[in-house]
Amino acid sequence: MGASGHAANDHASAHAHAHTPAHEHCPGLLLLICGPSGVGKTTIVHELIRRFGGLFSVSATTRQRSPQERDGIDYFFVDERTFQEWITEDRFLEHAQVFGRAWYGTPEAPVRAELAKGHLVVLDIDVQGADNVRKRIPEALAIFVLPPNEQELLKRLRARGREDEAAIERRFAESKLEIARAMQGHTFDAFVVNDTLPRATDEVSAIVAERLAKRG
Ligand code: ADP
Ligand code: 5GP
Repeated sequence: MGASGHAANDHASAHAHAHTPAHEHCPGLLLLICGPSGVGKTTIVHELIRRFGGLFSVSATTRQRSPQERDGIDYFFVDERTFQEWITEDRFLEHAQVFGRAWYGTPEAPVRAELAKGHLVVLDIDVQGADNVRKRIPEALAIFVLPPNEQELLKRLRARGREDEAAIERRFAESKLEIARAMQGHTFDAFVVNDTLPRATDEVSAIVAERLAKRG
């Protein structure tokens, strides 16, 4: 889950299961964390899991693994054929092709298992993925993480050291579209600016704690 945000538009296509009832009961809390690539989602989510326990869902993707990423930990890195098989076998809660490039999908079984135990489950997915999950699990909490400004976002994308400059510039351009899309829609319960890590993490934690308390 090393990253980013985009899509929900002409550049992308997304799918959720058609056969699942719209309203499903989940004892746990499903948190959708979205935001542009490099904004700090992964960093914030690791701290959330440290504080609240639960699962940081590992997505499957057809994109190339960068040298820093570990298969099965950051993503399940699979080829197109395997990804298509997993779609056919209904293994995904949702899946999407982001900006017409790679495919990404959330394996459903581990998410369901953790929710059934009453735990927190966090998905780092793009905006179209969040839209689709909310249709199936309306009680999911959706938070969009914003950078303090554009230049800081560019700096963090570079600090991540995962890609070459061309890929960084492309993600940066896509980030602006993703932010605009998130602001225009009605998917998100909250927008949190990741200015300093402790402050942003505390804000997200407070929102999560409030929702957990309401569930009793
Ligand atoms: P994302 O998962 O959204 O792509 P990461 O969590 O990988 O982002 O963070 C991208 C980079 O920004 C990392 O190098 C991380 O340490 C750094 N970072 C995260 N939050 C902050 C912050 N508030 N201030 C400065 N750097 C940050
Ligand atoms: P990256 O390639 O930078 O790791 O991720 C690109 C984008 O794909 C990010 O916006 C990330 O949130 C999103 N993404 C990662 N996993 C999934 C997933 O399982 N489903 C969807 N819809 N988006 C995902």
